[in-house]
Amino acid sequence: MIQKILIANRGEIALRIVRACRELGIKTLAVYSEADLQSLHVQLADEAICIGGPRSNESYLRADRIISAAEVADVDAIHPGYGFLSENADFAEQCESCGIKFIGPRAQSIRMMGDKAVAKDTVRRAGVPIVPGSDGPVSTEEEAVKVARRIGYPVIIKAVAGGGGRGMRIAHNDISFAKEFHVARNEAEKAFGNGAVYVERYIQNPRHIEFQILADEHGKILHLGERDCSMQRRHQKLIEESPSPFLTPDLRARMGQAAIAAASAASYANAGTIEFLVDEKGEFYFIEMNTRIQVEHPVTEEVTGIDLVKQQILVAAGEHLAFDQKDITFTKHAIECRINAEDPARNFAPSPGTIGLYYAPGGHGVRVDSHAYGGYTIPPYYDSMIGKLIAYGSTRQIALQRAYRALSEYLVRGVKTTIPLHKAIISDPLFCSGKATTSYMEDFFARMPPDLFVTGDQPQG
Ligand code: ADP
Repeated sequence: MIQKILIANRGEIALRIVRACRELGIKTLAVYSEADLQSLHVQLADEAICIGGPRSNESYLRADRIISAAEVADVDAIHPGYGFLSENADFAEQCESCGIKFIGPRAQSIRMMGDKAVAKDTVRRAGVPIVPGSDGPVSTEEEAVKVARRIGYPVIIKAVAGGGGRGMRIAHNDISFAKEFHVARNEAEKAFGNGAVYVERYIQNPRHIEFQILADEHGKILHLGERDCSMQRRHQKLIEESPSPFLTPDLRARMGQAAIAAASAASYANAGTIEFLVDEKGEFYFIEMNTRIQVEHPVTEEVTGIDLVKQQILVAAGEHLAFDQKDITFTKHAIECRINAEDPARNFAPSPGTIGLYYAPGGHGVRVDSHAYGGYTIPPYYDSMIGKLIAYGSTRQIALQRAYRALSEYLVRGVKTTIPLHKAIISDPLFCSGKATTSYMEDFFARMPPDLFVTGDQPQG
């Protein structure tokens, strides 16, 4: 039995976990940095312990302090959320060795999928298509160029330990390859402390379509359909939706089966995501698995009616999944906009500071997951996402209309936000046509007037 959970995270996901625990009758312990005392998850959790200074490496990344807090407060389990220690196999192992349940997959699954080259190799053996590329990491420029020539330009150089859209470089010929190879290695070393890179074919104008996996610890692995995350800026997701306007029932069924095969190759338990790129012809390729709950999980929750965070906790408590693949139905269309405290007019510079007036939209078919409130000060130390707006309805058109309506109601004064950008995208005919690929954002900025977010009555202040 799980009676008390430590939430090793902050922001909206920490609040999301508090809410799931409340409904399950489980007590919560928030751990927080000195910068997060005013945070809503600290105020709403049953107990709270300060674990250190504002910077992540003084607090949210300090496994030792988090485990000490867990022991002092006598919790049964730790939910890591996303980011921070959520995909750290050593942390998962430390929790288990202290008799604390890590709410996530086994450490060996995290380790296997955390190394992108190992992950690709593992799923390939299980019959899942992967992007053609090097067999594992490439250490010398000579070897790497050979691979690039074999698979054909353009190619993408990616960090084995990559994440968050960082550590990726595209090369179009031998000359740019030589330069980008060294840049990618240096970037990977700096960002992840691991300079290993691999090379794969750069798929032109793909869609990013990922499948939500839910698995129990007794071998049952299900998928909960897909999310189309093609709307990205610098390889970082901005808008996610489900179902994907691109998938046919046949392609969905084949990709769902491939996702289950990939998860079972990692002996997977708990919630996870299998990410694919899909090319213009409908060929799909595995790119990576995320071994945690994802930012965009509410999209799937609204489409399937399944509470993923509660399921994570029940699975961690050793329960069997109470439904089968045939019981999972997709009855709605849902779309999520990530609301970041950033200034679109200043190249998306972070805009921390104190929120004045704050009004979150509501009404039929609207969900807002956010830790923000009027008077809240957004600290400068963490990522800039202050909330997620999810709109859903029986069709894509209704979901889009509702998203636009809700964005128009959303008031965040005192800091700049990406709300005006989302309004411009949601009302763009190309996006509405459902044909957008990962190249959409670049094209969008080229088409829009440069002063789109500078002038006018954008409600961003
Ligand atoms: P990260 O772990 O940093 O998020 P991913 O491997 O998930 O990196 O890739 C993020 C995004 O980068 C993808 O959604 C896609 O837009 C782009 N990308 C990655 N690999 C390729 C590829 N081989 N061809 C084209 N685009 C790619």
